[in-house]
Amino acid sequence: MAKPKTQEYPVLWLQGGACTGCSVSVLNSVSPSAKNILIDEIIPGKHINVRFHTTVMGGTGDSVVAELEQTREEAKGAYLLVVEGSVPLGADGVYAVIGERDDEGIPMLSWVKSLGQDALAVIAVGTCAAFGGIPAGAPNPTESASVQQVFSAEGIDTPLINVSGCAPHPAWFVGTVASLLIQGLPMEGELDEFRRPRAFYGQLIHENCPRRAYFDEGKFAKKLSDPYCLYEVGCKGPVTHADCPTRLWNNGVNWCVGSGAPCIGCVEPTFPDVVAPVYEKITDEALPNIGAE
Ligand code: SF4
Ligand code: SF4
Repeated sequence: MAKPKTQEYPVLWLQGGACTGCSVSVLNSVSPSAKNILIDEIIPGKHINVRFHTTVMGGTGDSVVAELEQTREEAKGAYLLVVEGSVPLGADGVYAVIGERDDEGIPMLSWVKSLGQDALAVIAVGTCAAFGGIPAGAPNPTESASVQQVFSAEGIDTPLINVSGCAPHPAWFVGTVASLLIQGLPMEGELDEFRRPRAFYGQLIHENCPRRAYFDEGKFAKKLSDPYCLYEVGCKGPVTHADCPTRLWNNGVNWCVGSGAPCIGCVEPTFPDVVAPVYEKITDEALPNIGAE
């Protein structure tokens, strides 16, 4: 019997005000591997066809930039747009350009608007794309904005999913894409108030932290190598929503607090300005009443 035809989903991946860390994190995915993601079927019968990604694609120049426009025309309403990094608005967008038109760089803003409005869905991968992140930190000299801010200003209502993190866990991105391919756009209640999938961002770090018993007993680390709760040396776990303590990083090897470093709140819209300084305790008033109805 002939094998059923594989369904292809074109993906365009833009990088703006970014360090490429989100791409590197996703490429470190173990199950599925980067090869599975890029070449094989990400789930049985479905393959994402990454047509543009400046870090991994072999081509350069006008011909690969033309792929962006071509995909928009050929697959209108049927491709996924992934945005990594902030969208710099200052100086007419000169701080992040992709390709040229009439000898002028084409600003990231222009691509996010044109490709964003014709996509099936947009995934803002990483805290910079989701909330502005480090490029938008004070004094924000590039006037960096998030995808959501651009969409709101431009009246673009394409479904947007924020997969925040500095960098995000590969499973958060792969799981979000797999969910889109299996069940379609997120259903009511599946995203939180910041458009993040509750499956990954539904609980506080502090709720599942193995050092929580020390917090409850008032045993606090005075330096990073102490084995107790890291709250007094700056842990933002009580105000940070992610499944790092249970999912772990590097294919289940460890995570920030497990390696003796405080959670720095990297997935939150408040990162980095509000949760800074990294090694200072947050004020007790900011603590949610954990466990209360
Ligand atoms: S403050 Fe940080 S280290 Fe302490 S229990 Fe909460 S998440 Fe764990
Ligand atoms: S533990 Fe905190 S800082 Fe570390 S990856 Fe998770 S959310 Fe980010």
